[in-house]
Amino acid sequence: MHQKSLTELRAALDGKEISASELAQIYLQRIEAAKDLNAFISVDRDLTLAQAKAADALIAQGNAGPLTGLPIAHKDVFVTRDWASTAGSKMLENYASPFDATVVERLGRAGMVTLGKTNMDEFAMGSSNENSHFGAVKNPWDLKAVPGGSSGGSAAAVAARLAPAATGTDTGGSIRQPASFTGITGIKPTYGRVSRFGMIAFASSLDQGGPMAQTAADCATLLNAMASFDERDSTSLQREDEDYTRYLGQRWSGDDAAKPLAGLRIGMPKEYFGPGLADDVRAAIDAALKQYEALGATLVEVSLPKTELSIPVYYIIAPAEASSNLSRFDGVRYGHRAAHYTDLLDMYKKSRAEGFGPEVKRRILVGTYVLSHGYYDAYYLQAQKIRRIIARDFQEAFSHCDVIMGPVAPTVAWNLGEKADDPVQMYLADIYTLSTSLAGLPGMSVPCGFGAGANAKRPVGLQIVGNYFNEARMLQVADAFQRATDWHQKSPSAPAGV
Ligand code: GLN
Repeated sequence: MHQKSLTELRAALDGKEISASELAQIYLQRIEAAKDLNAFISVDRDLTLAQAKAADALIAQGNAGPLTGLPIAHKDVFVTRDWASTAGSKMLENYASPFDATVVERLGRAGMVTLGKTNMDEFAMGSSNENSHFGAVKNPWDLKAVPGGSSGGSAAAVAARLAPAATGTDTGGSIRQPASFTGITGIKPTYGRVSRFGMIAFASSLDQGGPMAQTAADCATLLNAMASFDERDSTSLQREDEDYTRYLGQRWSGDDAAKPLAGLRIGMPKEYFGPGLADDVRAAIDAALKQYEALGATLVEVSLPKTELSIPVYYIIAPAEASSNLSRFDGVRYGHRAAHYTDLLDMYKKSRAEGFGPEVKRRILVGTYVLSHGYYDAYYLQAQKIRRIIARDFQEAFSHCDVIMGPVAPTVAWNLGEKADDPVQMYLADIYTLSTSLAGLPGMSVPCGFGAGANAKRPVGLQIVGNYFNEARMLQVADAFQRATDWHQKSPSAPAGV
C-alpha cells in the first residue's frame, strides 16, 4: 500500500480496500521504523488518528473529495495549531501557533490527514538539511548522502514512502533541489499562487509553498487544494481558481498529431549545460530530453546570460529580507529567551545568540550589511536591478519556447558533511534554481535517472520551468514524461529500519 501514489490510494479508499485510519497507521508505523532518517521533527499519533477517523466518517457519508483521507506531511515552516511549529530552529523549539497556516487549513479542509511536521534547514536556509537544530536528515537512497534542502525532511519522507505527499517551500530551490536529490516530483508555483500566510518567513519576495509527491498528477491534485487567493497574504494573487489537472493526458497541440507532445518547444538554456555540470547528471538530462523528442517535442537553444549572477544577486536579496524578517525573534514576542541577562539589550543579544544557528546568523550579518547606509546602493540596489534583467531574459527565452528544461542541480546529492563547513560551495550548487525564484516563475523537478559509478544510487531530477501562471501546462509536460517512463516509481529498496 505504501508504494502507491495519491491517485492510487484514492482508488483504494474509494474501493473500500482500506480505510483512512488504516492508511494513517501504516504510515505512522513506517515513520516510527525509519526514525534514523530524521525526516520528522514532530509526530503525534493520536492527533493523526483523530483526523483519519473524521475523514473515514466523511467517506462513509459519501462526502469524500479527491483528497479526503489521504495522508500528508507538512514542512515545519508551516504553522500548525496542533503540532509544534519550529522552522527547524532552537528559537522556535517549543513554539505553539494559535492558528493553522492557510496551506495547512486548506489541505485539512480538503480532508487530508496530517502525519506530522518534517525536518528542514533552520528557517529554510540551506541546500542540504544540515542546518537544522534537530539534526541532519539522511537521504533514503544512500544514507551517506544529504537529501537536499531546505525541504529535505519532506523529500526524504516521500522518497522513503513514509508519506505519500508532503508540503515544501522554495525560496531559491528548496522544493526542486531536494525533490531532485531524492527522486520525487515537486513543484514551486508562480510567486503569489500559494498563500504565505502562516508560512514562517525567510525572504518574503521569494518564498513560495508547493507540493511534493511521487507524480506530477498528484502534485496537480494537491495544488488544486493549496493554491488560492488569500486576503491575509498581501502578495497573494487575485486570480480565479483553476484546475491544474485539466491538461493531464491531453495532446499538447490539441489536434490529432500522432505524438502527444507534437508542437511543444523546449528551450535549453546553454548556460545550464556548461562545464560546471557533472557528466552523470548531463547524461541523465540528455536522455530525458531525447525522451521528450520521442514524444514529439522539439528542442531549441535559448540563453539566460545572467545565470551566474543569480548567485550573488540571490545571496544579497534573500539575506537582506531575512535580516528584516528575523528581527521579530527578540525573545519577547516569539521564541527562545535567554535565562540570564542584565538588561533589555543584553536580553535581546543573548536570546538571539542562543536561539539562532550559525547559517542564520551569517545571513543576518550579510543582510544587515548590504542594507546599511553607504552599502545599500552598491549591493542591494544593484542586485535588484540585475533581478529585473534576469526576469526580462526569461521573457526573451519564452518568446522562442513553451517551457525551459535543464538540470535542477549541477551534481547528484553530495555526502553529509562534504560542504557543511563551506557555505560558498553550498551556495554555488544552487545555480540552476535561483534565477527562476528571482523571476517569480514556476518550476518543478521530475525524476529522470541516477548518477554514475559511486553515485549510481543517487537520483537526478529534470527541471522544467514554465512562464507565469503556466503550471497546468508544465504539469501536463511532466505527466507526459511520467506516462512514458518509470523513474518516478522507483523507491529506495531498504530505507533505514523499514
Ligand atoms: N539553498 C537556498 C538557500 O540556502 C534556497 C533555500 C530555499 O529555497 N529555502 O537560501
